[in-house]
Amino acid sequence: MLEHKRMRLFKGILAALALSTPLMAQSQPSVDWSRVQTETMQHYQALLRMDTSDPPGNESLAANYLKQVLEREGIPAQLFETEPNRANLVARLKGNGKKRPLLMMGHTDVVRVDPKKWTFPPFSATRDGGYIYGRGTIDDKDNLVASLITVLLLKRNNVPLDRDVIFLAEAGEEAATRVGIEYMVGQHFPEIDAEYCLAEGGGTTRSGGRVQFAQIQAAEKVPHTIELTAVGTSGHGSVPRMDNPVVHLAAAVAALGSWKPPIRLTETTREYFTRLTTFALPQDAARYRAVLSPDSRAASDAVDYFAEHDPSKASMLRSSLSPTLLSGGLQVNVIPSEAKATIDVRLLPVEDPAAFLDAMRKVVNDPLVKVEYTGQNIRPDGRPARVDTEVFHAIESAVVRNYDTTTIPSMSTGATDMAYLRAKGIQCYGIGSATDLEDVAKGFAAHSDQERLLESELHRFVRFNWDLVLDLARAK
Ligand SMILES: [Zn+2]
Repeated sequence: MLEHKRMRLFKGILAALALSTPLMAQSQPSVDWSRVQTETMQHYQALLRMDTSDPPGNESLAANYLKQVLEREGIPAQLFETEPNRANLVARLKGNGKKRPLLMMGHTDVVRVDPKKWTFPPFSATRDGGYIYGRGTIDDKDNLVASLITVLLLKRNNVPLDRDVIFLAEAGEEAATRVGIEYMVGQHFPEIDAEYCLAEGGGTTRSGGRVQFAQIQAAEKVPHTIELTAVGTSGHGSVPRMDNPVVHLAAAVAALGSWKPPIRLTETTREYFTRLTTFALPQDAARYRAVLSPDSRAASDAVDYFAEHDPSKASMLRSSLSPTLLSGGLQVNVIPSEAKATIDVRLLPVEDPAAFLDAMRKVVNDPLVKVEYTGQNIRPDGRPARVDTEVFHAIESAVVRNYDTTTIPSMSTGATDMAYLRAKGIQCYGIGSATDLEDVAKGFAAHSDQERLLESELHRFVRFNWDLVLDLARAK
């Protein structure tokens, strides 16, 4: 009886609140999802059929298309271009300014193709057996179309916003950031300045046809290029010399190649491995637990295991180096006076570059071999995004709602455009559609010779993106 009265009182209060604060009581905008699916597929295929291989890019094909789609619905969109045919597009829906903006990004360029290797032509956007095939299907025209649809739906439903929602379709992500994110951050930053950004780099993993977990990219390693230069005295090949630079260089490369820099955890990777332990198979979970004590013998054994069987996890646990280029010598009978090697170095975000260089010099331990950063391919050292922000919590609930699975924050071993935004203090998170783990071995992954995405997963990702952005930006 008492319980019953309390319940009535509670319901009464709720009703009063709803009347007094109409904005809070807004129901979910109604969306006709079957119509949206038709529209999603139409834009997705149109974008996939544009050859935006980078180089040369020609991203203006996509930027102009998006501009016309947005403007048809009264959404102002602007193009920013520093080189011909390489436009970036920015569209903005205004909010009431209560919160700082949210930026959604998708890149319009794709990596190049070798058409001979493709069963379906790479720019045909062929639909077959529930999949869509084509270059860019999962990198990154899925994020691009999800952002586009979200902006269109916000506008059509006249959703009142607490913050501006900005859509950036950027050029040059794959091979020429100077025309894309670097240019936008350097020359037009106020157009894209935001509190949070959502971009590529994450995604949900399926295996055996079932969703396993959602990975949200919250950090990335920082790429550096290091050059080794060995010097010696040139001479006749018939008279071996102690200072032959080829010999000294080879020893230095071998020493660095077998060096194991210290295992270190970051806030992101600690959370990543901790959450993995909760649903991994027992033998895997034991290794994930082991690396949580990075100085232990068990951690070093686990990382050795990863290095052989799951190398990207090994790379997440230490700053890494891969020797990739070697040069030296003119002809067989001439001892050269110089030989060089180039090392692709990926530092953990917690690593001090100067200290790491010193450590490398100690490993090389040879006065005839110089070890230096070249200053090439430098991306800014972006601070990892936090996992206790409102965005991360919103991502987790949108993941549960759409994928009914666990969210784990991850650190990319490769670099993304988010580095430039993180360096400006924007909290960035990488999201993406669900793909099958088995597709990697079958050759259907991003950058492979037959990229593909399940149609059902494209549509699910669009809804995920919509739920997430609505949660973060709708006036409350
Ligand atoms: Zn990409």
